[in-house]
Amino acid sequence: MSELATQNIMYLPGVGPKRAELLKTELKMVSYEDLIYYFPYKYVDRSRVYAISEISGNLPYVQVKGKIASMKTVGEGRQSRLSAMFTDGTGMLELVWFKGHKYVRQNLDPKAEYIVFGKPSSFNGQINVVHPEMDKVKEGQIQIVAGLQAFYNTTEKMKKSFLNSKAIYKLMQNVFKGFQGKIPETLPARILEKYKLMQLHEALHTVHFPEETKGLERAQFRLKFEELLYIQLNILKLRNQRNRNIKGYIFSRVGDCLNNFYKDKIPFELTNAQKRVIKEIRRDMGTGIQMNRLLQGDVGSGKTLVALMVMLIALDNNYQAGLMAPTEILATQHYETISEMLEGMNIQVGLLTGSTKKSERAILHEKLQSGELQILIGTHALIEDTVQFHNLGLIIIDEQHRFGVAQRARLWKKNAHPPHVLVMTATPIPRTLAMTMYGDLEVSVIDELPPGRKPIETAHYFHNRRNNLNRFLKTELEKGRQIYVVYPLIEESENLDFKNLSEGYEYMQRVFADHKVTMVHGKMRPAEKDAAMQEFASGKAHILVATTVIEVGVNVPNASVMVIESAERFGLSQLHQLRGRVGRGAEQSFCILMTGHKLSDDTRKRMDIMTRTTDGFEIAEADLKLRGPGDLEGTQQSGLPFSLKIANLGKDGRILQYARQVAEAILEDDPLLEKQENYIISKQLLKLAREKMNWSMIS
Ligand code: ADP
Ligand code: MG
Repeated sequence: MSELATQNIMYLPGVGPKRAELLKTELKMVSYEDLIYYFPYKYVDRSRVYAISEISGNLPYVQVKGKIASMKTVGEGRQSRLSAMFTDGTGMLELVWFKGHKYVRQNLDPKAEYIVFGKPSSFNGQINVVHPEMDKVKEGQIQIVAGLQAFYNTTEKMKKSFLNSKAIYKLMQNVFKGFQGKIPETLPARILEKYKLMQLHEALHTVHFPEETKGLERAQFRLKFEELLYIQLNILKLRNQRNRNIKGYIFSRVGDCLNNFYKDKIPFELTNAQKRVIKEIRRDMGTGIQMNRLLQGDVGSGKTLVALMVMLIALDNNYQAGLMAPTEILATQHYETISEMLEGMNIQVGLLTGSTKKSERAILHEKLQSGELQILIGTHALIEDTVQFHNLGLIIIDEQHRFGVAQRARLWKKNAHPPHVLVMTATPIPRTLAMTMYGDLEVSVIDELPPGRKPIETAHYFHNRRNNLNRFLKTELEKGRQIYVVYPLIEESENLDFKNLSEGYEYMQRVFADHKVTMVHGKMRPAEKDAAMQEFASGKAHILVATTVIEVGVNVPNASVMVIESAERFGLSQLHQLRGRVGRGAEQSFCILMTGHKLSDDTRKRMDIMTRTTDGFEIAEADLKLRGPGDLEGTQQSGLPFSLKIANLGKDGRILQYARQVAEAILEDDPLLEKQENYIISKQLLKLAREKMNWSMIS
C-alpha cells in the first residue's frame, strides 16, 4: 500500500499531465491510493435490460438494447440538438444530445447494436433520454456492465475536460488492472476473523465494481468500520496518554463559597438534571485526572447556574476560575447575572472583553496575577498571551462550538498544570457525532428544563399570511410582550440581505407606529449594538429587528414571540437556537417561521420538524440525517478535524458504536499498541496521523 500512496497518478494509463493537474486541483487526488479511496456516491442497477415498451418517464435509470432507426439535427447554432429515434422492436425511444452533437452524430453507427443507458423523461408524450451513455455491442457478445454501476462525483471543471463519472470509472478499472497481487491488508487477521470482515483488497474492488447489493454492503461495512475504528483508536489512545501524563488538580474540599451560595443565595431549586451534572463534574475534579468534560444542555436548561456552582468549588480549593463566552454581549450578560447572584459574598469577579479600557485592563491583569481576582469572565480576550493567572484551576467555555480547536488548546498553556476544562454547548450534538468529535471528552447532559416552562408553539406561515401575522403580533404587544424579528444574513448575499433587514425594520416601524422598534446587526459597532440590545432587554423597545447576532445566549424573559423571516434559509439547529431566545419566562411563547411558497423537499421537512417538536436532541438527529455532519452547525466552525471518506455519521451511528467498542477492547488489552499482533494497527495509525496533521488536536 505504501507504494500505492507514493505512485503518482499521472502515470496511470488514461491520466497524463493535464488530467493529473486537474485531479489534483479539483479533488486533491495525487496518488494511486487517492484514486482507489475515492468512493462512489451512488450506484445504479444495470443488471436489468428494459424493453422500451415498459419505460415510463419516472423510472430512475434504465438500460435498453437496440438500434438507431433515424437521426436528425434540429434547430440551428447554439439552440440546435441531435435527435435519434432508437428501437428494440417493442417501441421507440428518443435520444437527445445538446452538447457536442456533431461529434456524436459522426460516430454513431446506424447499423450497429447499442446498449443505451440513461435517465428517461417524458416530453409531449414521447419518452426520451438526454445525453445517454452509448456502448456498442460487439459481435454478438453482450457487453453489459455487470451488476451495479458506480457513479462518482466530479466538478464542473472536470466535466468540461471530459473527466466525468464514467471517466473516473475507467481510471478505476485501469488502476485495478495494473495490480500484481493484492492491496496489503490494513487490519490484523484476528480482527478480520473475529468480526467477519471482508479483506481490504476485495472490499475496495467490490465498492467500485459491485455485482450485487449484498456483497456491496459487506464491502462498505468493512471500509466504514475500519475508517471509524481508526478514528476511535486515535482518540482513545490520546485520551489514555493524557490521563497518564497529565495530573489534574484535586478539588477535594467543599467550602464556604459553595455552601453559603447554596444556603443563602441560590435563586431557585436546582433541577434534578442540574444536580446530577454537578455531581458528575465534582467527581471528575476530585480524581487527580484533569477534567475534560462536555456539558450539553438545550437552550434555557440552566447551564449558567451549573457553571457558577462549579466555579465556586474551584474557589473553595483556593484556585481561580475563568468563564469564556463567544460574544461580548454574552460575556457581559454572564458577568451581570453572576455578579448579581454573588452579591454580598465577598467574591471578586472581573470582566475582560475586547472593549475593556487599557487602564482597567492593567488593573485586571494585576489582580489576576496576585490571585485577588477569583473569577474572570470574558470573551477570547481571556486567552490573550498577556493574561496571566495566579493559579487557574478551572476554565469553562460557553457555547463551545463557536470557538476553534486551536483557541481551546491555548487555554492549556495558561498554567504549569492544565486547568480542568468544562465546555458547554446548547447545540445538542447527537451522540454519534459527540463520540467522534469529542470522543475523548466525557459528556454530561442536562436533559430537563426548569419547571414551569410552557413549550413554545411553533407555526409555519407563507408570506401571504403577513396580515394575520401582524394582527397576532399586535395582540401580543398589547399584552405587554416583546418580539424578535430575525433576518438571515449570509456573507455571499450580504448586500441583498442587508436591504431586506433594513426594509423589514422600516416596515415594522410603519405597521407598529405606536411601538418602539429597534435594530441590531453585525455591521454596527459593538457599543451601538450593545446600546440597541440594552434598549430591548430593558423593555424600552418592544420589537427587535435583527440578524442572527442574537442567536447565542441572550436572555430577555419578557420576549415571547420569535418571527424568523426567510426561514427556508436557516439550518435546523440555527432555527432551534433562534427559537430558544423565547420561552424563557412564564408566558406562553410563540415562534413563527415565515417562508415563500416554493419550498424544496428538505425545507419542507425542516419546517415540519420545527413545528412538530421542541426537543433539541431530536432536532439535532434530524439535522444530521438531512444534511450530513459536514454541514452540521457547530462542526463547521470548530471543524471536524478530519473528513470521512466513506462512513456517514448521520447514518452509520451503529457502526460507529461498534467500532468504539472494538477500539476500547483493543486498547484495554494493549494500551500503547506495542504487541506484535497490533503491529499493523500502530503502523496504520502512524500513517494516518502523518496524513491528517490535526488528528492529534482533537478536543
Ligand atoms: P442556558 O442553558 O441556555 O445557558 P440559562 O443558564 O441562561 O440557560 O438559564 C435560562 C433561564 O433559566 C435563566 O433565566 C435562569 O435564571 C433560569 N434557571 C436556571 N436554572 C433554573 C432552575 N433550576 N429553576 C428555575 N429557573 C432556572
Ligand atoms: Mg447560556
